[in-house]
Amino acid sequence: MSSRWKAERVAASTATIFAEMSALAVATGSVNLGQGFPDTDGPAFMLEEARAAIAAGVNQYPPGRGIAPLRQAIAAHSRRHYGLEYDPDTEVLVTTGATEAIAAAMLAFVDPGDEVVALEPFYDSYAASIELAGGRRVGVGLFGPGFRLDHAELAAAFSPRTKVVLLNSPHNPTGTVLDRADLAEVARLAVAHDVLVVCDEVYEHLVFDDAEHLPLAAFPGMRERTIRISSSGKTFSATGWKIGWALGPAELVTEVTAVKQFLTFVSGAPFQPAVARALDEGDAWVEEARLGLQGKRDRLADGLRSVGLDPVVPRGTYFMTTDVRALGYDDGVTFCRELPHHCGVVAIPHAVFYDRVEAGRPYVRWAFCKRDSVLDEAVERLGRLRV
Ligand code: PMP
Ligand code: GLN
Repeated sequence: MSSRWKAERVAASTATIFAEMSALAVATGSVNLGQGFPDTDGPAFMLEEARAAIAAGVNQYPPGRGIAPLRQAIAAHSRRHYGLEYDPDTEVLVTTGATEAIAAAMLAFVDPGDEVVALEPFYDSYAASIELAGGRRVGVGLFGPGFRLDHAELAAAFSPRTKVVLLNSPHNPTGTVLDRADLAEVARLAVAHDVLVVCDEVYEHLVFDDAEHLPLAAFPGMRERTIRISSSGKTFSATGWKIGWALGPAELVTEVTAVKQFLTFVSGAPFQPAVARALDEGDAWVEEARLGLQGKRDRLADGLRSVGLDPVVPRGTYFMTTDVRALGYDDGVTFCRELPHHCGVVAIPHAVFYDRVEAGRPYVRWAFCKRDSVLDEAVERLGRLRV
């Protein structure tokens, strides 16, 4: 229900698809493979560090850009993994999750009427953040069944009104990891059209097999025009902590900071030393988690095959896609609304992430960042749907 006082700018007054489907999972006692959050916690030393910080009185406003040790740890992580240098004092901003970094970047750089090029399906907060800024989104399809980037469509998406490219790789919900040729083409176009690129890299460490996460900022001409966004939520399985960050040239980070200070002012004090420690000391934990997740991906893929679905096995993220026409449905939204009642499993329909909804219609996203027993239970329940 929406109010008669609602601003035009705010398109929908409904709960997000993730909130809706998680509530449905609770109400129906379903196994929740919908909203993407792990059901096990991050590294024990990180959790302990946050507890210790609270006990030691780290409970008041931290500095607006984030505490220095966290900014230093974020910069060191970027240097260590990608050889990308950022000055922790001027080129790093701690945010309230990647969500805030994305919203603040859109509000900082997009004026009404400006166009923002983004991969479609769009992660839900992209559409909302672009709308709040008054911008117009221009989708470049990652369409099924292959979910690959079409370079001709990418080039055609640019216009004189293009201000920003909002890129996401590894990509939610498709699991596509853009390769070197894809990224080189994005970089070429961004330079040719002189636009800013906001890169959402929250799944940077969740890549499988021989896939590699390549930050766009490392491509020629890109560092000066790229804001890199990531989050401890994905890397350290702490989605409820909401500690994210943005990296970029000082003048761009200053603009994002200017907006951030009036969205949240600062971000959760006691979590910051904990995430700093996790970034500094957690590489081995992250690698183990990545390998574990790859096993879960394969476990769920096998399970889905056993019930007659043919999963698109992702090279990144913790999401897997299936076409539900194999089970006699032609519409993923109906499938996801009925599934909890039929067999007690929750998934997310792709269609809600598309402007061209027909392209997403038969696809459904399953999260595999869950304990093996939970994945097995979901598959067993799905087996009942079939009979
Ligand atoms: N971007 C993408 C692509 C995501 O999938 C998510 C959340 N899962 C976010 C941003 C938000 O991250 P955070 O929880 O750190 O705000
Ligand atoms: N990013 C998570 C997902 O894709 C959800 C986060 C949220 O609910 N906002 O499932």
